[in-house]
Amino acid sequence: MVHCIGIKSTHFSEKLNSEIQPLVPLEIKIESIKLVGIAQIPQIVYITSKGRCSTFLSKAKFLNCLLCFLQIKQRHFSKIISYNFQTYGININAENSKYFIVYSEIHAFLERYNRAALEKLEVELTAVSSVVRNPIKGTVAEVNNLGCSCPDMVYRHNVCKHQIATHLYLQSNGWGSLAEYLQQNTGKKWEEKLLAMAEVAKYDLGI
Ligand SMILES: [Zn+2]
Repeated sequence: MVHCIGIKSTHFSEKLNSEIQPLVPLEIKIESIKLVGIAQIPQIVYITSKGRCSTFLSKAKFLNCLLCFLQIKQRHFSKIISYNFQTYGININAENSKYFIVYSEIHAFLERYNRAALEKLEVELTAVSSVVRNPIKGTVAEVNNLGCSCPDMVYRHNVCKHQIATHLYLQSNGWGSLAEYLQQNTGKKWEEKLLAMAEVAKYDLGI
């Protein structure tokens, strides 16, 4: 069975639900990632509670993951032109720049991307941040321009599952990144949003 993330917002009502597909329908610890065959298909090798296994990712899926990672790091570019695997990490050529992601970083990211999809995290946007709830564990984390309040981000400096859930939620609703969303939350536009949110809140309360 494939588990999906059901992200919801109480502030913006209509059709804002989105889903992310997990890479693997179990918690994973990635050992390696490589490109396989003439077609250069990305493959991850990982450990789960049921043993060691490997899975091919579609090129499009892998590219989306790389984009997601770079955009959360708030690096502005429109698209990835190409990537290649080096000894210690992945070289990425974007339109106006180049990036290098070490393997340990991309492993950690894909593990958390998968976790964000497996757990039914709920994202709620505010004017200055996004509040991400884990309904199973009852935990809450706050994501803003500086990062996230959770231990994974604060102590391990990883791109955490809350940032990933927030980013994918914003993207599915037409925002490029959290920075872009927060930047827009000033002046008239934001006042209009607040009014719309107040209307929804009134409706929720039955006023
Ligand atoms: Zn976090």
